[in-house]
Amino acid sequence: AGHGKFFVGGNWKCNGSTDMIKQLVGELNSADVPKDENVEIIVAPTFVHLEQVKHSIQAPYQIAAQNCWHEPNGAYTGEVGPEMLKDLDVHWVILGHSERRHVIGESDGHIGDKIKQALSTGLKVIACIGETEAQRDASEAFSVVDRQMAAISKVVESSQWDQVVIAYEPVWAIGTGKVATPEIAQEIHHHVREWVEGEVSKDVAKGLRIVYGGSVSDKNAGELAERPDIDGFLVGGASLKAGPFAAICNSH
Ligand code: PEP
Repeated sequence: AGHGKFFVGGNWKCNGSTDMIKQLVGELNSADVPKDENVEIIVAPTFVHLEQVKHSIQAPYQIAAQNCWHEPNGAYTGEVGPEMLKDLDVHWVILGHSERRHVIGESDGHIGDKIKQALSTGLKVIACIGETEAQRDASEAFSVVDRQMAAISKVVESSQWDQVVIAYEPVWAIGTGKVATPEIAQEIHHHVREWVEGEVSKDVAKGLRIVYGGSVSDKNAGELAERPDIDGFLVGGASLKAGPFAAICNSH
């Protein structure tokens, strides 16, 4: 931790029903989460639940979408444009999540186009990177995140970097219960920060929040958050339970 406000995002993925979300939001509203200026907490429901969450969740929670299209609107059946999110008063969007990359097949280039459009619309972006298990085994973890960072930095203008949070989410750790050790996560976060220092600027590297995702729980968040380059978390499974999620929000 130590670069900007500690950041915790809850990615609800393709989960929820009206009733389930009513209950979860009720529990989150009464959960003991930090309300100070130093922590930023975001929840990301599905598109169809954004409106419900927006009308029921209270400060300090903010809302993110899990994806958006790379054009503001138009003939793109089944997609949602960033303008529509902005119109709903949604200020954040997750882009490049590993499930979008590896299950749905989005490329670095397409993710870059989405990030560019989202930022130019005025949305803040949680941009995800991370290697697969096979890539780590082949000692390619650094080169994979470098390539993903290059595709991101290509589209982020220098004045927009404070609207971006990088989420390092090793694919082998997502939804597997196999959390990265604090050493492994710190090593990549530090590497990414050095990459940004070299390829973007020293100031951007200093201010950039790099958060970790992959089987984060109330049990392991504390020791990860102690590491100097881990500035928060993106949480999947544990974000669907108010108690553990609140504990993660209090972990720094
Ligand atoms: C995620 O999908 O962003 C994630 C980190 O999932 P989980 O916490 O369930 O591993």
